[in-house]
Amino acid sequence: MGECLFCRIVSGEVPSDRVYEDDEILAFKDINPQAPIHVLLIPKKHIPTVLDMGEEDMRLVGRLFKVAGDIAREMGIAESGFRLVVNCNRDAGQAVFHFHVHLLGGRGFSWPPG
Ligand code: AMP
Ligand code: ZN
Repeated sequence: MGECLFCRIVSGEVPSDRVYEDDEILAFKDINPQAPIHVLLIPKKHIPTVLDMGEEDMRLVGRLFKVAGDIAREMGIAESGFRLVVNCNRDAGQAVFHFHVHLLGGRGFSWPPG
C-alpha cells in the first residue's frame, strides 16, 4: 500500500490540487484532464477496485457519489451535465489500483464511450 500513488496523494507525500476533503474522502484535479473539468474522487481508505468493496464500504461509496454531485454543482456543471466514470481492470484501462470516480464535465460526451 506504501507503493500506491493515490495513498501517497492522501498522505500528502505526492502533491495534488485538492478540491474537496473530509475524514474519509479526497477529491483532486486529474493531472491529465480529459475535459475542462476532470476531478478524481477517492476514498482515503485503500480499496483497489470496485471488486474489492465490502459491505462496510456501502455508506462510503454512497457518499462518494453524493460529494461528486456537490462538486459538479459547485463547479457550475450540474445543469449542463457531467459524466461519472469508474474503470475496473484491463479492458476498462484502469491504471491506478486505488478505487476512484472520475468526474468529467464542461463539454459534451459521446455514447457509447470509446
Ligand atoms: P484510471 O485509468 O481510471 O485508473 O485513471 C487514473 C487517472 O489518474 C488518470 O486519469 C490519470 O491522469 C490520473 N493520475 C495519475 N497520476 C496522477 C496524479 N499524480 N495526480 C492526479 N491525477 C493523476
Ligand atoms: Zn491506495
